[in-house]
Amino acid sequence: MFFEITDETRMAALGTALAAVLESGTVVGLYGTLGAGKTRLVQAIARACGVTQQPVVSPTFVLLQEYEGRIPIYHFDAYRMRDEDEFLELGPDEYFEGSGLVLIEWADRVENVLPPERVEIHIEVTGEQSRRVEVRAVGAKYAGVLDQLRVRKDDFAT
Ligand code: ADP
Ligand code: MG
Repeated sequence: MFFEITDETRMAALGTALAAVLESGTVVGLYGTLGAGKTRLVQAIARACGVTQQPVVSPTFVLLQEYEGRIPIYHFDAYRMRDEDEFLELGPDEYFEGSGLVLIEWADRVENVLPPERVEIHIEVTGEQSRRVEVRAVGAKYAGVLDQLRVRKDDFAT
């Protein structure tokens, strides 16, 4: 499902909508070039989940950051990971099977070791402030997420 996002405020609103529809235990892979808005989206989701910790920054040298919200949020960034083994060393299965929301930037780098059922968010830069965002449900389990987002579409998409 594709959404046209016209600016950062709308991206934040998409984050709020995602926070409302994603259940704990969901693994979300974020895709898109540097500066696409992956971290901004994580930030918005975290805020909407009640995280009050200081701004969620791209975990430059921290490969995993954990935030305490209404549900725990595990924010991985695979950008600087050498390979999938480096990701596996963080023990991601424990988080995949846990009761938090798992958000993974640069998911393409670790795709082979992600659970077969997950949500993918692909962000394409279409202008200085505009983004085309595709939300995919991989596996049947999360098909409902798309339906619920469609209902909220007016909150964030044009
Ligand atoms: P990434 O994590 O994908 O590398 P960031 O979220 O760190 O990207 O940075 C996105 C940059 O793009 C920020 O500087 C942000 O201000 C800017 N930006 C402009 N328009 C948007 C938008 N619609 N959504 C998200 N970020 C946007
Ligand atoms: Mg980032």
